Amino acid sequence: MRATGRAIKPFPLVSLLAALALFVASASPRIAAQADHDPRAAFEAVLPRLNARASWGESYVLSEVTFDATWAFAIAEPIPASGFGGFTPHIAIPLIGIHEASGWLIVIPSPANAAEFNALLHNLPASLADEATRAYFEQPLQHVSHGPARVNNFTGHKLPWAKGLPAWAFSKDVTGHINQVDFDIQGLAAAGDVRASKPGTVVFVKESSNSGACGNFSTVWKQANMVVVQHGPSEYSWYVHLAYDSVPVNVGDVVSYGTKLGVEGDTGFACGKHVHFMVSSEPATWTNPADPNAAPWPKTTSLAPVDFIEVPWNGIQNGQTYISQNDDTPSPPPPCPAPELQTPAHGFIATNQLISFAWSAMNNCAHDGYVLRLKTVPDMTSGGTLIAEANTIAPSGALTIGTTWNYRDLYWSARANGAGAAWATARRLRIEPTITGTYTLYSGPNFAGDVFTASQTITDLQTTGLNDLARSLKLDPGVGVVVCSEVNLHGECGRATGPVQFGNLSDLAQGLAGGASSIRACGGACPPGPITPTLTAPITGQVVLSGTAVVLRWEGTEGATYRGELWGGVLTDTIAFGWITDTHWLIGNLPASEAPYTWRVRASNGFGDSAWAQESFVVVPSQAVYLPIAQR
Ligand SMILES: [Zn+2]
Repeated sequence: MRATGRAIKPFPLVSLLAALALFVASASPRIAAQADHDPRAAFEAVLPRLNARASWGESYVLSEVTFDATWAFAIAEPIPASGFGGFTPHIAIPLIGIHEASGWLIVIPSPANAAEFNALLHNLPASLADEATRAYFEQPLQHVSHGPARVNNFTGHKLPWAKGLPAWAFSKDVTGHINQVDFDIQGLAAAGDVRASKPGTVVFVKESSNSGACGNFSTVWKQANMVVVQHGPSEYSWYVHLAYDSVPVNVGDVVSYGTKLGVEGDTGFACGKHVHFMVSSEPATWTNPADPNAAPWPKTTSLAPVDFIEVPWNGIQNGQTYISQNDDTPSPPPPCPAPELQTPAHGFIATNQLISFAWSAMNNCAHDGYVLRLKTVPDMTSGGTLIAEANTIAPSGALTIGTTWNYRDLYWSARANGAGAAWATARRLRIEPTITGTYTLYSGPNFAGDVFTASQTITDLQTTGLNDLARSLKLDPGVGVVVCSEVNLHGECGRATGPVQFGNLSDLAQGLAGGASSIRACGGACPPGPITPTLTAPITGQVVLSGTAVVLRWEGTEGATYRGELWGGVLTDTIAFGWITDTHWLIGNLPASEAPYTWRVRASNGFGDSAWAQESFVVVPSQAVYLPIAQR
């Protein structure tokens, strides 16, 4: 920004002297105006003092005055080519007015009152100077010396143009341009490519402006195009004045050393094509990039010198040429590590089907947004059932989950949407809608007899004195139930959602004619029971040699438990196993028998049992009977 009249680039001394002159002149920052209540007149009254102090004959005019009853703000900008040898000074001077009884007090910024001036600046009503303008005119809190590098210089940057090419440096650390430098890549006529000075993520892109000028500061400075790259939590590099529509990257893109960001130009307040470069520890409020007349700007106090790998900041001399050692072929960005999951917390119980998720943003790695996933198992890449998934731009998203998945352990995670990106360790959640109604059980049919009213799950109605006696049921709105013939929601079960009533429980499920022993309550409809398992091994009718360990296997519903029964053969009683979570059961050796061994399995998921699986049998003949043909 504020580039000079080009003919005199080899004279960086000029800007320094102008700064010095201003510093000396403004030892006393407040100037009492001529008891004038017209702020413009008060500012005009100050100008001659400014011009008198100006060195080399440059002069200033008021470009803009805004005011209200208490405050006034003005920008004094240099008349182009009004400086020594047609030099256009680098500076636009902000002036602040405070309305007092005696008239307007005008405050001029200087190194001596930088902190006070900044405080006034930030107290100015936004209607007089917007955030970008106040950031732009913030005064640096320490006067720059050309002494040793300060510890807080930014490091690890390469000169922001193509490897092996030259560029002129100018306006580095001149007044109003502290911790900022302009580079003219490959000389006056050329429009050189601007390259990323350090790996990072693009956080702002504006290429909509096609205009700029070497004057009329307060109007044109916001016409600057720019790209801003974030390198870390507190490090942002700015590439300003880029040519119209010359930017090949987008917000969110990951860039490496040497990635092309645009072409140097003269959009905004610029006297000739160049790139204005600076690094800040803070971002700014991003403006609408489609608006060519709006631009963000970092607070001057968040800027600091940059030690390039090619040359340290205090080695850069205005008017000198420097050769970039930046990367010619930018390396591809690294795959993204796992983000940090934020909300909801592990073990979260949701009461709604719509759940919002958030995680940490990813920077400096290859991604185009994020992937949010919900499954029935913690492993996001294999196994289980994928319940819902969403691609998002921001590090947050929402999923609407079907009621089928209520009351179950579910797992969610997120990752960056890019090649090789890692999933975060999944977090568990459950959806348990709020129960807003009650159910009432009656020991007699048609709502007679003892009454039990509740809204929670009872796994053994014996505890309520209604064991096996419940015969009729009423449900309010807002509650759903599963009623079962056995304790722990096993046996024959029926389900219903209120409002409804059953004068006889057998109307709910045939198996409840003999009464209910447990009841499950849900907010809204209860999820369905498990599907009937499928017996997979041994296949039915399979011959198993006695002495061979037999393992029964089946397929069922994720998260279910299983109960199985085995009978027949030489068994006098039915052997039962379960409730187990495995989908196999080791029987061991079955004695030889003429009669087959039959087995079956049913599942449970806490919302009732499935039906028994289709029975299967194995035959275990005696050794003598069964000799393979070969051995005969
Ligand atoms: Zn500049």
